[in-house]
Amino acid sequence: MEDFETLLKGSAEAHGHLCPGQVVGVRMAMEGCRLIDLDNPDRLPQIKKLIVYVEMDRCATDAISFVTGARLGRRSLKFVDNGIMAATFVNLETGKAFRIVSNETSRDLAEKYAPEIMDKNGQQILAYKRMPLEDLFAIQEVQVTVNASDMPGPTRFKAVCQNCGQVVRDKREVMKDDQTLCRPCAMGTYYQAIEKKDNKQGKKMQAHAHGEKQSLCS
Ligand SMILES: [Zn+2]
Ligand SMILES: [Zn+2]
Repeated sequence: MEDFETLLKGSAEAHGHLCPGQVVGVRMAMEGCRLIDLDNPDRLPQIKKLIVYVEMDRCATDAISFVTGARLGRRSLKFVDNGIMAATFVNLETGKAFRIVSNETSRDLAEKYAPEIMDKNGQQILAYKRMPLEDLFAIQEVQVTVNASDMPGPTRFKAVCQNCGQVVRDKREVMKDDQTLCRPCAMGTYYQAIEKKDNKQGKKMQAHAHGEKQSLCS
């Protein structure tokens, strides 16, 4: 693995700016990987051995993904929407796993570790670089059972929604009133369809909703 400053520079570039979250995320990811004995997690063969659970979709998450190489699209990055700045690093080969939580108290310690910086953002960035890990994080060894349907690799599970015909992968279907349903049918959608009767795209979307059309990618 590259050194801290090189990783921080790369992560700030990928994220779009240097921020306290990048410092925290890079340090969290480096420590997480060290604890589960992966020194090159973003390259083969180790890239297949790592799964990272992140519990918040904020700045540090990008840094963790950058350092570890864990990605949503590889199924190696799992988002658990807890609103907690924490991540769990799992070595699939050995089963070793550690959950690292960012201490709320570290915010108050920023002044102690970088008293010469007045600007709050700059002070946090420098302080989080200097702070010992025990001030920055609470670390706990844990056990994580990764379901077969959450593992990377080819699709192993497919179901068809009995209401709309949509193919659902990875056991994300729902049983409701003895029917196998996709989540939009069973639980509602985060979007509302705009029906434009004279518009081709609108017709297509309606057809899709009624199961006459399936998405193409497998
Ligand atoms: Zn940021
Ligand atoms: Zn459906």
